[in-house]
Amino acid sequence: MTGDVESALRAPQAYDLARQALQAMERHRVWPTPLNYELWLHYIGHPGGALAQEIERLLSMGEAITEDISESLAAAYLPKARLNDQIRDAGDVLNRQLASVAEAIQKAKRSNQTYGETLAGAGRTLGADLDAVALKQTIDGLSAATRRVQRENASLEKKLAESAAEVTRLKEHLEQVRRDATTDALTNLANRKAFDEELGRACAEAVQKNEPLSLAVIDIDHFKGFNDTWGHQTGDQVIRYVSSVIGRMAPPPRFAARYGGEEFAMIFPRERVDDVSSALEEIRVEVSSRMLKRRSTNEDLGAVTVSAGFAEMLPGESVETLLERADAALYASKRTGRNRITLAPSVAAAA
Ligand code: GH3
Ligand code: MG
Ligand code: MG
Repeated sequence: MTGDVESALRAPQAYDLARQALQAMERHRVWPTPLNYELWLHYIGHPGGALAQEIERLLSMGEAITEDISESLAAAYLPKARLNDQIRDAGDVLNRQLASVAEAIQKAKRSNQTYGETLAGAGRTLGADLDAVALKQTIDGLSAATRRVQRENASLEKKLAESAAEVTRLKEHLEQVRRDATTDALTNLANRKAFDEELGRACAEAVQKNEPLSLAVIDIDHFKGFNDTWGHQTGDQVIRYVSSVIGRMAPPPRFAARYGGEEFAMIFPRERVDDVSSALEEIRVEVSSRMLKRRSTNEDLGAVTVSAGFAEMLPGESVETLLERADAALYASKRTGRNRITLAPSVAAAA
């Protein structure tokens, strides 16, 4: 998607695209910051895409596009280029650190060499017959050289320690950048991008090792009505609650993600549908039996329910049809009354 917009910006319709982006921002009172402009270019340039859907959802909820929201949209939907920038910057800092350490080591090597020569010279001088004055001079020279080399070694040590601290700081920063780019800000579960990557990886591994793999999709029931009654902030609180239940049922190697607004997905490497079925059933029962309270006013919200669909990867099946089967099973749960889990039939749905 990034590629499409990048090339559209160098094509005849480029200024149209730019105008449309700015107009849409103005219409929705979104500040024309560089980041928002980038987001809106992708939104306008790729209508119907995941970013467009998310922006439209936020706008339809009357959500103000704060800097935090822009940042998290960018992290989730414009991740590659931004991540690359951060990684390149980190690489530059690392290169500078390594160059300065290499220089300090060279300098220390030279001064140690000089010191060695001074010692050898003093050795020769001391071998000859010396009067007291010459002896004192030689010893003074030696102790000055010793102090110099000590000073330089200490400064090398200090430099190495500083450098090690800087590299650790850099490593932590990159780790944070990586986490931000793969984590959903509301729930702290993995985001959709991370999920898609992990699903591809886990499926490939299952095929390669000839192991089973199952997949589940979970969606909160009648959530639109819940939001309409209680407001989006309380809705967010419920999404967080459901996420926490799902997250608890997903210790590694299981993997849980917020797949969309009120929809979640779970990967179950090396697990067959029986295990998945009991895990999902546990989630379903726990969610439906918990009486929720509105945090701000302590009002009783009642319980929410979730529906799920799940499928086990078939021999030779693609990631896409596995997802489609799990999705179709979720819709079967919805059709047949919600608050239930449905196993996908083990035949690929006709395309
Ligand atoms: P169903 O049982 O068929 O899933 O009904 P539903 O109302 O849950 O489904 P629908 O897809 O029609 O509506 C989903 C709603 O979820 C729309 C939107 O109001 C709400 N929603 C999606 N993402 C968020 C979010 O991040 N926060 C809040 N508060 N609401 C969200
Ligand atoms: Mg729903
Ligand atoms: Mg939904």
